[in-house]
Amino acid sequence: MTMHVFGLIGNPVGHSLSPPMHEAAYDELGMDARYVTFEPDPDDVEAAVEGAAALGIDGLNVTIPFKRDVLGLVDPDDLAARIGAVNTVDFSTSPPRGYNTDAAGVRRAFDHHDVSLAGTDAVVVGAGGAARAVAFTLADACDTVHVANRTAAKAESLAADVREDAAATVTGGGLDTLPDRVPEADILVNATSVGMEEDETPVRTALLHGDLAVLDAVYAPVQTRLLRDAASVGATTIDGAWMLLFQGVVAFEHWTGRDAPVDAMNAALRAHL
Ligand code: NAP
Repeated sequence: MTMHVFGLIGNPVGHSLSPPMHEAAYDELGMDARYVTFEPDPDDVEAAVEGAAALGIDGLNVTIPFKRDVLGLVDPDDLAARIGAVNTVDFSTSPPRGYNTDAAGVRRAFDHHDVSLAGTDAVVVGAGGAARAVAFTLADACDTVHVANRTAAKAESLAADVREDAAATVTGGGLDTLPDRVPEADILVNATSVGMEEDETPVRTALLHGDLAVLDAVYAPVQTRLLRDAASVGATTIDGAWMLLFQGVVAFEHWTGRDAPVDAMNAALRAHL
């Protein structure tokens, strides 16, 4: 049996939690496999992907700053093409197949918490890379998606991109739109970095309510102020480690065709947070 090699390309990748999370899956299933991190020079990403294919590497995750560059080097699935970013490459086909499991992982994180997105009104705070994956995913399932961002023009531009092929009604605006939107919403996602450096929240507690399901993309710390505030009003809370976990779970499933050992991966991830 040949050893399987998976990995991550990004720059930097030194603090990645993916190696322990994926290697826990290999241990749990008795797979002869390794997960290795690579930090190519940003000018060498094309050579890195071609080299990985030539070396017989089975699969790569892709992180900042390469998610957009890799899109043009692989055959992306529909969701990755619409988002314009690839975070998972499967080298079992030629050309290699590209996926965006950040997006698919958000869906799985809600499913895992028995939160149904069908027919819901969602608010996404933020308009960067994480918000993009979240907004495209929610727009495939929810009735409405509103993107609110500190820089309103970026929210409007993201909403326009998402609206193109979405069944959902998609709007965008500044953070001043939150008081109108959040009290009526079913789903709230923080996809800004607020809450990471300092104990701050992008959404005032007075706007939160018990019928909300709140996902915070921030995973360090795991218990952000937003999640603590949301729990205090009786909302369902989903921390950022679930989003991180399920992007890895979906990547594992694309690469191996097997169900991922979710509990083992979750335990390994949380042990390293
Ligand atoms: P990004 O592209 O740099 O976007 C940052 C976003 O945060 C922008 O919308 C920015 O607004 C907003 N922002 C930053 N500081 C702010 C402040 N003080 N007040 C209000 N808004 C502020 O970053 P990203 O890659 O999307 O990552 C965002 C967060 O998601 C990070 O904490 C990251 O760790 C997390 N993340 C988690 C996962 C996961 O799997 N759990 C995956 C990806 C990312 P402007 O546009 O106005 O600057």
